[in-house]
Amino acid sequence: MTKTDTRDVGATVRQLRALERAGCEIGRVAVPDHGALAAFARIRGKVGLPLVADIHFDHRLAIACIEAGADKVRINPGNIGGTARMQEVARRALARGCAIRVGVNAGSLEKELFAKHGGATPAALVESAVRAVRDLEAVGFRAIVVSLKASSVPHTIAAYRLAARALHYPLHLGVTEAGFGLAGIVKSAIGTGALLADGIGDTLRVSLTDSPLAEVRVAREILAALGLRREGVEIVSCPTCGRCGVDLQRTARAVRRSLADVVEPLTVAVMGCPSTAPGRRGPPTSVWPGGREGGHLQPGAGVENGPRVAHDRRVDGGGARGGGPARPRQRLGEGCSGAGRSGGRRRGRSTRRCGSSPSGSAASSTVSRSPACARSTGCGR
Ligand code: SF4
Repeated sequence: MTKTDTRDVGATVRQLRALERAGCEIGRVAVPDHGALAAFARIRGKVGLPLVADIHFDHRLAIACIEAGADKVRINPGNIGGTARMQEVARRALARGCAIRVGVNAGSLEKELFAKHGGATPAALVESAVRAVRDLEAVGFRAIVVSLKASSVPHTIAAYRLAARALHYPLHLGVTEAGFGLAGIVKSAIGTGALLADGIGDTLRVSLTDSPLAEVRVAREILAALGLRREGVEIVSCPTCGRCGVDLQRTARAVRRSLADVVEPLTVAVMGCPSTAPGRRGPPTSVWPGGREGGHLQPGAGVENGPRVAHDRRVDGGGARGGGPARPRQRLGEGCSGAGRSGGRRRGRSTRRCGSSPSGSAASSTVSRSPACARSTGCGR
């Protein structure tokens, strides 16, 4: 989700483009008033990323954003003003092929549900979502995505698990207001990761008190850690111990920096010694075991079939620890069969543009579970 003032069209467009380059596949923009609405229409015309208009309180803004070409509007059943208004939005969205996200939030749950359940419990969040979904279905609208965000990780996980049983629409995951720094990342990773590991969730947004680019990076790391996306370099590095022969922290960081622009799936193991060298940890594409002689590169199992990305990439490593001569510019990927010099595709490549299917979900600063999801339906499925 963009964090600029939406009325600043230039800044918002720049941020959306930066998010797209970082791997974001669906952008969400807050539209709190008519100034932002006018800007949204201009922004829509300047970016290729599927755009979600984030609406609270005023359903007329949602309708106007649909007319302005929003791919999806997010409405909050807790503050949009009731069934009639929600259905008015749905009729317009139906006519325009726009999706709607029912975005339930623990902080703005309907008062009667809060009272009935004794708080914003997982069951209360799900009841709010089910009620809103039934209202939309009543006017024939089914291009629905549902989210049920809470800042509590256990509540978030419980709510989505309940929703996955109660509803058969795409689920957009997120732990809202996760905070900042390590704590925010851990909350987001556990909250969304537990659900994704269960096969629940179609898109996700990481909500941090940080730059939106950081949010996308974390989201992509979550997907990569679960094996739901394999893109770019995965660094497998050891924790080091008394056998370590190099400054491994520095070396691993240098390898990561050097390969930051590679988008093909590539596993690089950066190990402190040959104890867990190629073949002992599965089939990494390239392996860089360090040694007291300064470290050297060995191709890992399966390297012959690996992508042609690592050849001729030089890395400023940490050099040897413990007396060995430092080798400040190690060659990474040497020995890769048939490897070219290009170093692989760079980021900022073709856009994964969601389709226009009205049944699709979308999300905010969002990464979907798989490339096929983002391409085929616009819903992350
Ligand atoms: S790879 Fe070597 S240095 Fe790293 S933790 Fe294992 S034994 Fe220690």
